[in-house]
Amino acid sequence: MFSERIDFSHEANLSIDELVRRAELLLPETDLSILRKCYEFAERMHINHKRSSGEAYIIHPLNVASTLVKLKMDLDSIMAGLLHDTVEDCDVSPEEISKLFGQNVAQIVVGCTKISKIKFKTKEESQAENFRKMVVAMAQDLRVIIVKLADRMHNMRTLQYVSKEKQTAKAQETLDIYVPLASRLGINSVKADLEDLCLRYIHPDVYYRLAEKIAMKKRERESYIEETISLIEEKMLEYSVQGEVTGRPKHFYSIFKKMQQRGVDFDEIQDLLAFRILINNITECYKVLGIIHSAFTPVPGRFKDYIAIPKVNNYQSLHTTVIGPKAERIEIQIRTFEMHEVAERGVAAHWKYKERNKSDAVNKLKWVEELMEFNQSAQNSSEFMDAVKNDLDVGGVFIFTPTGDVKELRYGATPLDFAYAVHTEVGNKTVGAKVNGKMVPLKYRLKSGDTVEILTSKTQTPSKDWLKICKTSRAISKIKQYLMKIERDEHRARGEDLLDKALKKFETSIKHLEKKHEFKAVLEKYHYKTLEELFVNIGSNHLPIKDILVAIPSVNLTENDEFDFKVEEKDLDSFYKSVAKTARKSTSKDNAVIVDGLDDIVVKMGRCCNPIPGDPITGIITRGRGITVHTIGCTRIADMDKARNLHVEWNKHYTFAHPVNIKVTTHDKPGILSKISKSINNAGINIRSAIARSMPDQKGSFIFEIEVKDYSELLKTISSIEQMEEVISVSRA
Ligand code: MN
Repeated sequence: MFSERIDFSHEANLSIDELVRRAELLLPETDLSILRKCYEFAERMHINHKRSSGEAYIIHPLNVASTLVKLKMDLDSIMAGLLHDTVEDCDVSPEEISKLFGQNVAQIVVGCTKISKIKFKTKEESQAENFRKMVVAMAQDLRVIIVKLADRMHNMRTLQYVSKEKQTAKAQETLDIYVPLASRLGINSVKADLEDLCLRYIHPDVYYRLAEKIAMKKRERESYIEETISLIEEKMLEYSVQGEVTGRPKHFYSIFKKMQQRGVDFDEIQDLLAFRILINNITECYKVLGIIHSAFTPVPGRFKDYIAIPKVNNYQSLHTTVIGPKAERIEIQIRTFEMHEVAERGVAAHWKYKERNKSDAVNKLKWVEELMEFNQSAQNSSEFMDAVKNDLDVGGVFIFTPTGDVKELRYGATPLDFAYAVHTEVGNKTVGAKVNGKMVPLKYRLKSGDTVEILTSKTQTPSKDWLKICKTSRAISKIKQYLMKIERDEHRARGEDLLDKALKKFETSIKHLEKKHEFKAVLEKYHYKTLEELFVNIGSNHLPIKDILVAIPSVNLTENDEFDFKVEEKDLDSFYKSVAKTARKSTSKDNAVIVDGLDDIVVKMGRCCNPIPGDPITGIITRGRGITVHTIGCTRIADMDKARNLHVEWNKHYTFAHPVNIKVTTHDKPGILSKISKSINNAGINIRSAIARSMPDQKGSFIFEIEVKDYSELLKTISSIEQMEEVISVSRA
């Protein structure tokens, strides 16, 4: 037996009848009349097209569909194979395909069309990326890729009819993109086939020399193969293991690769033949390995156990190289029939075997149904698909531009993110987006494979709300950059305005001073490079106007002069806002309270209300004297200007004692003062002073100034005093 490999040769005389006949063997219980409808539709659409070979165009989709049957794909895929070029080449709309042949078939055809439009990079380092893009963009339906592979395989097979440039370009693209893809999806039959086709066009000299060598002594080699096969079969029979043994020359590309790897010529490559033993179960695989190694001498270091450790594409097999009967090296692969199916058909076989494992009765209809179901909702993706996706390390979604470029964005990305990925200017001017031709809100969550068109307007500008919509760091930083620039512009304008107003009092103006170069000194003094920078700093309240006026020679103002330039209320407002905006990072242990954003500022406690940690507090700005902290309820601050209030908070790291007054009223009994003092001291509270007063109605009144860490310590102290028999009331004074 020589050809257990799937034969993908071009069939010039393939008819729809023959295709249907083959499909019936694959899908015996399915009504396949729809295939004829697909065929008739495609034939009608392609009626004016010819292949480069001069053949009617329909022979191409027919061969592609046949390849899909050989790969044991489902009905949707075979239908899509027949229809795959109608959208791209005949301007058939996806809606029409969907209406006539169903949503699933339409999706596969549209997917294939999209792939044709991808602009692949051909540099070696971006290969993985290219192919990842392709897999992932189509990940909702891997059948798209399998149909595309079948398409490419047939095109490669009929490449002799196109120009030399096109041959090389197509072959290189196939080697860069489609071969790794087939390999990654484990479809080794397709991979090997494509590789040899590529070799033929990229290194024709090597290809034809190999072909010649293999063709030489063909009869001799074939009888050698036969001989070896029966030898192996004999041995297996001896140990009563049943299986199928095949042998053949290795495919050209694998020989070529070995030549390259070892830097040797064809003649020096010994192991040109490969044998394959297919058996029923894993235990027997290892048994057969033992048989082989006892019958032939194994070449050390050449045994590989891909059964115990499968390749990433799920390939499983035992590989060994032994010295054959004629003292030349032969490679032997040992695996189960099931593993072989997976090795040849990869993903397709995996779907199939998944079903078989589930129930013994192989119900192909059910399998198709399951596949359809899976395709209808991307969320309901099977474990297998998840595994494939994880395996490919998919970090995001792949989005198409209307011209077929692919952009990778993180999960959750929106059309706005996409717009910024295209270009900052596109992002800044975005007013709307169409996904797959339909208008969507800007916060729409993009899915892999979406085609996004951004609508822009010249008058549009980014807003703060956009920061909530965007998920990519690029978009967010671009929006922030824009907003910051806008803010700077505002500050500049305001600073310029404020300075001009102030200068009016001195009967001059910015223009006038600029002419006399009087700003030079100011800029030098404050280390600003431009006048604009100066304006920004005035406008953002970083530089008081008076400081500037003092530095201008023709404005006769000295440090000590009173200069009452009234800052408008709204200016003060923004000052406090900008103060509050600065990060709250002060953890200084030296201050009892933290003033937002201000490190070196004098903070005093209001003597009127003696705030202690735990009290709600506010800071009052006292010009020239820093900040005084009051309790929120303090009567002293009630009539003060609200604009002078500043947010302050207690410093958790500050644990020093705070003085506080408590007033205790008691029955006037002897020794009561020392009793209360003792109780306070026992609780570890320090008494700074005590004032005792006798009242006319036999009551005693005491004011204790004690030191507590915080409000809760004060409460504890108060309640412990309250518990004394003699005590009538305790309160904070
Ligand atoms: Mn095609």
